[in-house]
Amino acid sequence: MPMSKSFENRLYPRLDDIAAHFGTPFHIYDEAGIKQTGNHLKEVFSGIDGFREYYAVKALPNPGILNIMQSLGFGYDCSSIAELVLSRAAGGHGEDIMFTSNNTSQEEFICAAAEGGCILNLDDISLLKKVPELPELICFRYNPGERRTGNHIIGNPVEAKYGVTYDQILDAYRQAKDMGVKRFGLHTMLASNELNYTYMVETSDMLLEMVEYISQELDITFEFINIGGGLGIPYRPEDHPLDIDSMAREITAHFDAFKERNGYAPRMFVESGRYITGPHGALVTRAINRKEIYRTYVGVDACMSSLMRPGLYGAYHHITVPGKSGNEEVVDVAGSLCENNDKFATQRSIPKVEDGDLLVIHDTGAHGHAMGFNYNARLRPQELLLREDGSVELIRRAETLDDHLATLKFEENVLSA
Ligand SMILES: *Cc1c(COP(=O)(O)O)cnc(C)c1O
Repeated sequence: MPMSKSFENRLYPRLDDIAAHFGTPFHIYDEAGIKQTGNHLKEVFSGIDGFREYYAVKALPNPGILNIMQSLGFGYDCSSIAELVLSRAAGGHGEDIMFTSNNTSQEEFICAAAEGGCILNLDDISLLKKVPELPELICFRYNPGERRTGNHIIGNPVEAKYGVTYDQILDAYRQAKDMGVKRFGLHTMLASNELNYTYMVETSDMLLEMVEYISQELDITFEFINIGGGLGIPYRPEDHPLDIDSMAREITAHFDAFKERNGYAPRMFVESGRYITGPHGALVTRAINRKEIYRTYVGVDACMSSLMRPGLYGAYHHITVPGKSGNEEVVDVAGSLCENNDKFATQRSIPKVEDGDLLVIHDTGAHGHAMGFNYNARLRPQELLLREDGSVELIRRAETLDDHLATLKFEENVLSA
């Protein structure tokens, strides 16, 4: 799906100036769009007491973006030390942060507990004994196995490395309770880029049922369920957007019914990344070469160091050429890596491009820049923020060759034979 009309209207008239001022390539993010989506999410779930979004920091780990999350009142979903550091720097504190790691190291547990701690989401029972100091609030990540199937990116959760199984989950909370844990949450993450809202309702139902079951068995109550991330966005023009209003309406009704039965309801958390920022970012790159062989190639000045998703998963990202329409031709849009899957689009019909034209690659606001890699010593690009007032601010400079070569400067260190 092309970016929203309002992002387009703010961006396209200024694109030449922005490109001339900052140079290409760059990712640019739309503050107004991010706020609009964030506020809408809060609004549709306002019927659930204590609803909160924990932004999945890995999707766009930039302080300029995390400050927007802070202004929206969101928490932070982290899974690494760097993400904890960034979230705390943005103002996240204590239970504003949920740490959902897997294969967790001692160093990570220590960082998670530092500076006011966070909500610790454990990926396995065995970790109860490895947490250096067990906090009073514990959450487990539940993996229901074949009982509920996720969609294709995560695949069958039986094969996924994450979480505690159906047969283990009761015991996990029993052990935690016996070890002195007083407060409980339940988490799962089953979907990725899911556009069918009923999966999310099912996930929430599954967790609510599990909460009722464990509560009765162990005589405990749950403070929250967290249905994870995975809310989808329409990357393709023909995709229908996720029906978040219906999703919220049905989940809210099920929370109300839970409250009727149990006299209380837990809070509900989501930890969406893609849904919040994905559509509100674009990668802008300039055409630098045109090549006609068995196919026509449009060579651009960005490559997989800016955006891995097409090369990694064959993901679709819509591409437009501002100021041009009609006169379309079928091309591959390629970067410069010595790697044939370094293409932003294959056999795509776009308006005829000439050297020097700007191409806009849509929906790069999540899992875009963050996933870029340095193969072929290609450097990652700058990131810009289009402010609500129309100003454009650099929020990450481009990598330099010195950055890239920095790890080659070190003290001699040889373990002799
Ligand atoms: C990646 C991830 C998310 C965010 O996924 P989106 O598809 O961006 O919503 C949330 N929670 C966990 C545990 C994740 O690994």
